[in-house]
Amino acid sequence: MDLGISGKRALVCASSKGLGRGCAMALADAGVNLVLNARGAEALEATAQEIRDTYGVEVTAVAADITSEAGRAEVLEAAGALDILVTNAGGPPPGFWTDWDREDFIKALDANMLTPIALMKAQLPGMMDRGWGRVVNITSASVRSPIPILGLSNSARAGLTGYVAGTARQVAKHGVTINNLLPGSHDTDRIRSMTEATAKRESISFEEAAKARDAANPTGRIGTAEEFGATCAFMCSVHAGFMVGQNVLLDGGAFNSTV
Ligand code: NAP
Repeated sequence: MDLGISGKRALVCASSKGLGRGCAMALADAGVNLVLNARGAEALEATAQEIRDTYGVEVTAVAADITSEAGRAEVLEAAGALDILVTNAGGPPPGFWTDWDREDFIKALDANMLTPIALMKAQLPGMMDRGWGRVVNITSASVRSPIPILGLSNSARAGLTGYVAGTARQVAKHGVTINNLLPGSHDTDRIRSMTEATAKRESISFEEAAKARDAANPTGRIGTAEEFGATCAFMCSVHAGFMVGQNVLLDGGAFNSTV
């Protein structure tokens, strides 16, 4: 399917690895020119070069912490006027509800709620003036079904979800859509390190822990960054103009519900 977005310009945050990288690859495959971001310059430049070599699109790489004000300013300066914005950042650390104080919540809110909001606030006016734009926020399946040890993430992402629900309906008449993409378990460094932690905690091998993790999903496996990226690219396409304020759950059916 021609996604109809060849030649458009996208910023994909936190995209040297994992789900962000999957989104960048799929957008590049659709002919989109990219601004990529991550903190570590080496992995970021390697991904940027792989995308240039594979897809022949323009790629600008900005090594910066997207959750800091200075980092965001640097990324937005390099990005200029965008057609497509994919927000993403690392998730907050796990813990127990008694562990977290005000400062922990402020940090999580800054990273996973206020950073995407600041990026949208910077880019939405230009998209609305030009009459076309796509925003996809990478959030988490925990928005639909809480993961108790990720209380900081559950809280911050719920706040972003509420903001998007209202704002998406205010900008839609200008040809701009905002939606959230909710990953269940996907094969990335983050999930690999969580599986390692489970193996250690339960005194089993990594392979045993991965097998149990996969068996718990209706598909018998976890998702791939490629599948995730393809869904994101569709949500950024010309075909998704009537998709507004949605929370698209990509979890292999792990969330058990009839509707
Ligand atoms: P990942 O494999 O660990 O990759 C994270 C990427 O983000 C890396 O490129 C990393 O590069 C970059 N990054 C992290 N913090 C950053 C920051 N402050 N500023 C700029 N770049 C940053 O993680 P992932 O699995 O793709 O997860 C992406 C998001 O989806 C996270 O918020 C995670 O909580 C959420 N999620 C993932 C899953 C899953 O199954 N994978 C499930 C639910 C939710 P640097 O470290 O060099 O900055």
